[in-house]
Amino acid sequence: MKFQNLLMLFLFCVVSYAQTPQDLYNIIDAVSEKRLEKDIQTLVNFGTRNTFSDTVSNTRGIGAARRWIKQEFETISSNCDDCLQVFYQKDFVTKKGNNRVPHDAWVVNVVAIQKGIKYPNRYIIMSGDIDSRASNTMDFITDAPGANDNASGMAGTMEAARVLSKYKFENSIIYVGLSGEEQGLFGGAGLANYAKEHHWDIVGVFNNDMIGNIKGLDGIIDNRTFRIFSEPVPPTETERERQLRRFYGGEVDGISRQLARYVYKTTKTYMPEMNPMMVYRLDRFGRGGHHRPFNDLGFSGIRIMEAHENYDQQHQDIREENGIKYGDIIEHVNFDYVKKLTAVNAINLASLASAPPPPKNVSIGGAVEPSAKLKWNKVDGAVGYKIYWRDTTSPTWDYSRYVGEVSEFTLDGIVVDNYFFGIASVGENGFESVVVFPNTVF
Ligand SMILES: [Zn+2]
Repeated sequence: MKFQNLLMLFLFCVVSYAQTPQDLYNIIDAVSEKRLEKDIQTLVNFGTRNTFSDTVSNTRGIGAARRWIKQEFETISSNCDDCLQVFYQKDFVTKKGNNRVPHDAWVVNVVAIQKGIKYPNRYIIMSGDIDSRASNTMDFITDAPGANDNASGMAGTMEAARVLSKYKFENSIIYVGLSGEEQGLFGGAGLANYAKEHHWDIVGVFNNDMIGNIKGLDGIIDNRTFRIFSEPVPPTETERERQLRRFYGGEVDGISRQLARYVYKTTKTYMPEMNPMMVYRLDRFGRGGHHRPFNDLGFSGIRIMEAHENYDQQHQDIREENGIKYGDIIEHVNFDYVKKLTAVNAINLASLASAPPPPKNVSIGGAVEPSAKLKWNKVDGAVGYKIYWRDTTSPTWDYSRYVGEVSEFTLDGIVVDNYFFGIASVGENGFESVVVFPNTVF
């Protein structure tokens, strides 16, 4: 047997490691509430994790926190045959020109990459934030436990790494702790630029920011609902693309929105006890998060977070005023809920990391005809394709048809005018890519 054939056989054997949808239930069960609680407590114990706090101490400040996170990722890696590449990615920010930066400092992210076997350059990213803040975001001295904002997202990211590092995937997964969120999304911007410079093909970013509060200031207690924020279309779209949308649609069908729908569907399928709530906007009203710098560069990214916030318990010094207790302390974190949202991330990471790339050059036709038509370019690794469609007023892909390994299809009797259409690739184990909205017409 020629060497190339042997190599192919070897690759085939490795690739068949890929998960089956049944594995997603094991992944859900493997997420540990106890470990999440322990990690959140450890992060809280650093006193403050303000990005501009002490970097020398081993017990207090952002330096100690990021060294501990890096060490944790390294421990996880040593338990999976060094399956993670762990490193710091950093950028220097200066006081000059930034009115929320108290002094020049390195903004340091901790990155752990689990390389995919078949598509190593395709990345699905789960992020949490290392940093926390007091009432005044420039105050890097005062205690800022940031238990929910955002030790919860950071702990969830580390726990997802623990669980998923026991599996092998076709695509790469990145687990990352970002810094500088509270002063201007610096860490996310740094990593997004790094991704662009290194030509990463980013499948999507799951920004987890506040995944532990179930008791809202609105009085509602809810441990099932969570929000998925996604912007409508990328800010990088061209004027021509904007013009074409007037005639062909797509106002609510950008790449981040498709990622949101993917998470919605996977959650509904494998964790039906949960109540995912898609919010059709970039982020909360006038507020920001670390998926945005990725969106700014044209990458797909969403924010996953609790449904009911308590504003007395975020961005506040720990204190009592007029009988109201302020501060983001660990007593307010619901670890069972953190576990659920970590599992939501983990099954979506696993599912996307097991799926082939989406079809390319998806084109739609069928004007003044009774049947919609789609054409696309086949992709390596797909055993077939699934066409999705929905009423124009529906938020979710409600109808679908598997069409096998073809590169065009006519949907008899489905009038193109009355629905929106998309198409996903399907892999041999049944995992699907994100749905692609047609980008040309014929
Ligand atoms: Zn915050």
